[in-house]
Amino acid sequence: MRKPDTIERLYLDFDGFFASVEQQADRRLRGRPVGVVPFEGTDRTCVIACSREAKLFGVKNVMNVSEARERCPDIVLVPQKPDLYRRAHNTLLAEIESVIPIDAVKSIDELTCWLDESGREDPVGLGVRLKSTIARNVGPYVTCSIGFAANRQLAKMACKAGKRTEERYGDGLMIWRPEDLPAPLIVLPLSDVPGVGGRMEQRLARAGVYSMADLYALQPKHMRKLWGNVNGERLWYALHGYDIQAQPSERGMFGHGRVLPPESRTLPAAYEICRLLLIKAARRLRRAGYYCNGLMLWLALRGGEWSDQLKLPIVNDDQAVLAGLARLWERVRRKHSNGTQVFRVGVTLCELSLADQRQLDMLINDDRTRQKWESVSTAIDGLNARYGRTVMSLGPWKPPAGGHVGGKISYTRIPTAEDFW
Ligand SMILES: [Mg+2]
Repeated sequence: MRKPDTIERLYLDFDGFFASVEQQADRRLRGRPVGVVPFEGTDRTCVIACSREAKLFGVKNVMNVSEARERCPDIVLVPQKPDLYRRAHNTLLAEIESVIPIDAVKSIDELTCWLDESGREDPVGLGVRLKSTIARNVGPYVTCSIGFAANRQLAKMACKAGKRTEERYGDGLMIWRPEDLPAPLIVLPLSDVPGVGGRMEQRLARAGVYSMADLYALQPKHMRKLWGNVNGERLWYALHGYDIQAQPSERGMFGHGRVLPPESRTLPAAYEICRLLLIKAARRLRRAGYYCNGLMLWLALRGGEWSDQLKLPIVNDDQAVLAGLARLWERVRRKHSNGTQVFRVGVTLCELSLADQRQLDMLINDDRTRQKWESVSTAIDGLNARYGRTVMSLGPWKPPAGGHVGGKISYTRIPTAEDFW
């Protein structure tokens, strides 16, 4: 793997994006602590984005409204306007592209670019040009922070590190040259590593990793083991300054199909087998360190085929994918009676993204529920791994006669031992 000897990447993250767009659009909000909430008129929700003024009071994104009010009694709560943010996003991208080509848009308020020769030589000049273009053509209330480093992951961390100082939030510009590392990196808390949340921190602590310096000193294989998938190893190379690329195209989907045994050819029995296949597919998804954004269901019925698909939130837990299957199955039942014969079924999780690049879906605001179900799925996976078979599952686990649910061998996929549980 290549290890660049200079900065090659820029990472740009808008500061308190939804809130600053609100301030740009409505002068009454300027200079005031603003919190954007999903719905108006209830305290039983949380602030999904807040302005720099609110941040200086200690208000954070995804904080309960009651806690935000405690920390900042004057906070102005405004209901989200997704369409306004989408339009602002498009306008801002166009302005940035007038200065430098965008390599990848990571979320509604984050993006990354490759640096050309001039950007590598004068990152400060480039940063100033980007910021002044936005200020002039969009407005001075929408600010961004920019990080420069050898790879995208380090540039993202540099961006975050530059975003906040003791007396200031936002409008940051941070340059981490390879020769300066790891000094600016190892002073950061572990939670600044993309993908390290509270649970991961606990897991690391149990392994004796308490600080960024501890993490930096590990070996790639050890990190892979701690993470439970290849993302740990990828992170090692990223932290150590290697040019590690996102690989979304490496995998397109995780799916399983099966010909049904004669006793399982009714709709209710086929549904049970689809459930099993889907749980198997979700386990593989998690082991490989992915999330999915879509679910497809395919049935071969007497008299033809039926197939349909569904958009999921960006998820990887059993509860979420099973809920998606239940919704698709409703559509099957509207069309076909219970007595309909089903010969083959197939389920596929698609539209994948790597787990370490998952973006909190702010417009759905489901993160709390998802985290709960994700920890349930992780606990179940851990138990099954310990016993080497399915001892626990969400809902019943009754493999059909003939076994081998999801263990089919094909030219494109060689099953692992876990696929046969
Ligand atoms: Mg942001």
